[in-house]
Amino acid sequence: MGKKYNIAVIPGDGIGPEITTAAIEVLEAAASRKDIEIFTKELKAGGAAIDAFGIPLPQETIDSAKESDAVLLGAVGGPKWDKVEPEIRPEKALLGLRSGLGLYANIRPVIVFDELKDASPLKNPGHIDFIIVRELTGGIYFGKNGTYQSGDKLPDGTVKGQVAFDTESYSEGEINRILKIAFELAMKRRKKVTLVDKANVLVTSRMWRSLASQMSSDYPEVEFETLYVDNAAMQLIGRPSSFDVIVTSNLFGDILSDEAGQIAGSIGMLPSASLGANGVPGLFEPIHGSAPDIAGQDKANPFATMLSVAMMMRTLGEDEIASEIENAVKKTLSSGFRTSDITFDDEGKNIKLVGTKEITKAVIDNL
Ligand code: NAD
Repeated sequence: MGKKYNIAVIPGDGIGPEITTAAIEVLEAAASRKDIEIFTKELKAGGAAIDAFGIPLPQETIDSAKESDAVLLGAVGGPKWDKVEPEIRPEKALLGLRSGLGLYANIRPVIVFDELKDASPLKNPGHIDFIIVRELTGGIYFGKNGTYQSGDKLPDGTVKGQVAFDTESYSEGEINRILKIAFELAMKRRKKVTLVDKANVLVTSRMWRSLASQMSSDYPEVEFETLYVDNAAMQLIGRPSSFDVIVTSNLFGDILSDEAGQIAGSIGMLPSASLGANGVPGLFEPIHGSAPDIAGQDKANPFATMLSVAMMMRTLGEDEIASEIENAVKKTLSSGFRTSDITFDDEGKNIKLVGTKEITKAVIDNL
């Protein structure tokens, strides 16, 4: 008897159900060839949970997710829930899931497939294949914040009035555990780690830098470089193919990962993983949202979700299945199949514009 995996599937809203269905079909087809059984349990979160239970993240979803081997999420949100109370907005489900599962590392690969080079806004993008490792549960988004009134004056005599503050704070433990993920990832790849910080200004960044250079001595094979975040924003555009693993704090990672996503050009192609301690199920999801404008029309690009499932399988130690899914996606692209979001200059290229269902069938045929 082969192995079994229990996957919690949270389709969410908008195109979520279409893309998770597509990705699970591909996973089941790939797994069955390797005598691996995939059991799925569908859970509600986001707008779908608000409609059913009045809250975006029912306890049952967190509990069942915790019991699974891994969680696949589509996307949450949409105009239907734009006017609900801020505390129960669909997006609250994302934060709740991350903190409920203790996921502290967000991993976003940025790969530009040769077939989709035209999608990149960069002229000659070269071969882009890097990963951003973002700390997810610390830093300024979780630090002490508040507002107060001040009668003090600025040097030019202006009265301060209302003051608002957010605090960036990191512990050695929080930094070391994310750095370890980055160095270990680099060991399995091209063996280069770039730490992005603002060590010329921030005390927290100086701690990141000191801990990262200490850790780099444990990984002598890994080339270690540091970049200030402002410079990193430029270098990502200037020399994207030179990066392998980029590791950074929550705030800088939030901004740089969106910049990096844009380099790839097509939001429908980028997967992500959020990981916690060993033994905790990871959460795998495309980086895009619920695309309400095309929901239910068989137009959604399911590749980002399929590639998220490939990341899931690699994290579970099933490298072969992961590579098979990735190769089938590549083969489908090179045989000309495209959803409308990744159809560019297609003159003379034998492009077949198809919907979600047909492109999923093509991937399964290419496994
Ligand atoms: P979006 O990513 O949903 O869509 C942006 C554009 O990209 C749209 O034109 C959409 O049609 C297109 N697009 C996105 N994914 C696609 C795919 N797989 N295939 C084809 N086209 C695709 O971003 P948005 O419009 O800003 O947000 C829509 C909703 O999604 C909002 O409610 C937002 O809060 C939510 N959202 C959720 C997540 C998440 O669940 N992780 C992330 C971002 C946004």
